[in-house]
Amino acid sequence: MSGPPGPPRGWLGAMTTPARRRADTVTLRLDSGVEPGGVSVVHSFARVWSAAIAGTSYVPMSGAEVVDLLNGLTGELIESLLSEPFTDEPARRAGAALVGCHFTTVSTLEKSVSVIGERLLADLDLSRLELPEFDLASTGLATRVARMQGALAAGYAQALRENTLAEQEAISAAVLQARDEAEVALRSSETKFRAMFTDVATGIGIADMTGRVLDVNDALLRMTGMTREQAVHGHVRDYIIPEDAERGRWETWEQMRRGELDHYQIEKRLHRPDGGWAWATITASLVRADDGQPQYLVAMIEDVTEQRALRERLRYQATHDPLTGLPNRMLFLERLDEAFAGTNDGSGPKRVGLCYLDLDGFKMINDSLGHDVGDQLLVAVARRLDTAIAGPGRLVARMGGDEFVVLAADTGSVDDMTAIAETVQVTLAPPVRIGGHELSVSASLGVVERAINADTAADLMRDADITQYWAKSDGRARWAAYNPERNAHEVARFTLSAAMPAAMEREEFYVDYQPLVRMSDERITGVEALVRWQHPVFGRLPPDRFIELAEETGLIVPLGRWILRAACVQARDWLDRFGERAPFVSVNLAVRQSREPNLVSDVRAILAETGLPPRKLQLEVTESAIMGVADDGPLDALRTLDEMGIRIAIDDFGTGYSNLAYLRHLPVRELKIAGSFIEGLQAEGETDPIDAKIVKTLVSLAHALELTVTAEGVETTAQADRLRRIGCDSGQGWLFARPGPPDAIDRLLSAG
Ligand code: C2E
Ligand code: CA
Ligand code: CA
Repeated sequence: MSGPPGPPRGWLGAMTTPARRRADTVTLRLDSGVEPGGVSVVHSFARVWSAAIAGTSYVPMSGAEVVDLLNGLTGELIESLLSEPFTDEPARRAGAALVGCHFTTVSTLEKSVSVIGERLLADLDLSRLELPEFDLASTGLATRVARMQGALAAGYAQALRENTLAEQEAISAAVLQARDEAEVALRSSETKFRAMFTDVATGIGIADMTGRVLDVNDALLRMTGMTREQAVHGHVRDYIIPEDAERGRWETWEQMRRGELDHYQIEKRLHRPDGGWAWATITASLVRADDGQPQYLVAMIEDVTEQRALRERLRYQATHDPLTGLPNRMLFLERLDEAFAGTNDGSGPKRVGLCYLDLDGFKMINDSLGHDVGDQLLVAVARRLDTAIAGPGRLVARMGGDEFVVLAADTGSVDDMTAIAETVQVTLAPPVRIGGHELSVSASLGVVERAINADTAADLMRDADITQYWAKSDGRARWAAYNPERNAHEVARFTLSAAMPAAMEREEFYVDYQPLVRMSDERITGVEALVRWQHPVFGRLPPDRFIELAEETGLIVPLGRWILRAACVQARDWLDRFGERAPFVSVNLAVRQSREPNLVSDVRAILAETGLPPRKLQLEVTESAIMGVADDGPLDALRTLDEMGIRIAIDDFGTGYSNLAYLRHLPVRELKIAGSFIEGLQAEGETDPIDAKIVKTLVSLAHALELTVTAEGVETTAQADRLRRIGCDSGQGWLFARPGPPDAIDRLLSAG
């Protein structure tokens, strides 16, 4: 597009002389600029015109530039107005020129048309123009102006239309160009795609949404051994081996068909040319049409048979014990979880059982005969178990060390598991021959069986472990079945034992005292210190409930020390208040305490601290504390204590080893006959039961060894009478007094 169309060159020259002259006059005026006393017609009209159209269109021109343009156009309009013959061509060109300068609105046109109509003639001071041969009346200047208005409008509109068309054309040209470029790009990407499709090692197949195969690449044909003809009209289902195809629920496939899933990956077995099958990873992607509807399915298929074989080898290694070849803990736990993940199938809840077994004395074999023999034994045991037990629904695994486990799925009741436990025992019974050794093997087995909805795998494991421990502690070479009461009892024990250290700190323990009475005159010679636990929840607990626990945990050592100090403090108090009438205290020493290396120094320190003379202290030990001890430590300790002047008594005599011959070598001064023997003592005259004979024998034996004898559990006067006649030195029991607080002893001492 060119700039604003100016008047055709030479047009003026073609004009007739008068017109030319008149034009010249006008031109002269234009050229002469401002005349004295007035502004030229052209300039003044152009200014008015410019003001009229200002702001009607956005034009990239300054106000001055617009005025310049309009000056030019006005000159031409006036020239044509006054020319003979009249032509509206310049007005038409002026309209076009406006559009050419980006005046494009109806408003510009409207204002231009009206300003020409209203002002052009008025501004022309016709009287000042000398136009002698110009017949205004005949020509009709107003008519000319009107025609000029029409021509300007027509030119404006025409230019505007051309302008729009040109713009549209430019746009569509650009679109066309862009499309061409896109096509080129598309073609090249398609070429690239084709090349990839054909050359890659990955099999690629394209199917429509019904599963009909549209195209496959060579790699897929090579993988499956199909011909292109077979492949291309087949169905995706044809690729997958029938069992898998039937088993697969085609769930994901349906989801993709419905457009709910864009990608998925699975591993499936595909037919192979040799008639076998290959493992393949199939990555399927949905291709949607422009409207988003699922259109094609593209599947990339990779042969992963070797990777899978490797993976399986690695998995086997990870899930099996290298020594015995049995499944290991990991696989066992996996199977156990699977068993628990199983659903109930209407025939009642599924059940599962465990038989946890630990070889008895394996450590000893390992330590004495060497690890090599130990390993061979484990292999032999594993082989026996596997042969005898493993089968469908049953897994035999090695948990580590000498621990094995049998997992049985879908059991009926605990009997199924105890039957397995018995089979294990039978299987292990024949000695194992390794090298020159005949090794007898036994195992302790824990059996648990229950419904999967009643419990978790972890609970089952924990209980199997507990139960196995019961079998061990009950004497080995046996099985134990889980028993909730036994467990509850043990849990309670555990709770108590765990609470003991804090109880000691909070001083929940206290000591009661029970008189030891001389049979001849019923005078109190000593008192036995008996510990109690004032438990904040369970109330007063007798020692039977916690002493054994304290022995197991070792807490008995500090607790025993505390009791000893308390008793010595108390005895010292009585000594201060009652003088020589004050009783000695008899303090029980637990087995563990009697083996404590610090026993002697502890006792010595406590005596020093409390100021109690050793003769006012008696220590009660059980036979088991001194009999059958491998080293001499405890005996030496007792000897030292005896030499210090402390009385050593044997507690509950008759219930333990009762190695009478051995007694003479012990630093013992007193025997306490267990209450169970005293129970059978009757009034004299009735036929002597066996108990009476035993008590008589024990008393005379003790006296022969120069020991004093105390009978425990004296509840009746008849018993007391018999004991007195038998010659028993002292008695202890409810007949004389129940255990009680120190002030109860105070009252007895005061009463004499
Ligand atoms: P033990 O040493 O044989 O203590 C005597 C037990 O017999 C006490 O039970 C006592 O209350 C009970 N007894 C006393 N007279 C009679 C009677 O006439 N008839 C019957 N049926 N029983 C009677 P307790 O206090 O329950 O103590 C039980 C056991 O706890 C003690 O048996 C002792 O082995 C242990 N024990 C108690 N206190 C301590 C302690 O401070 N340290 C240690 N290591 N063991 C303790
Ligand atoms: Ca005792
Ligand atoms: Ca006793």
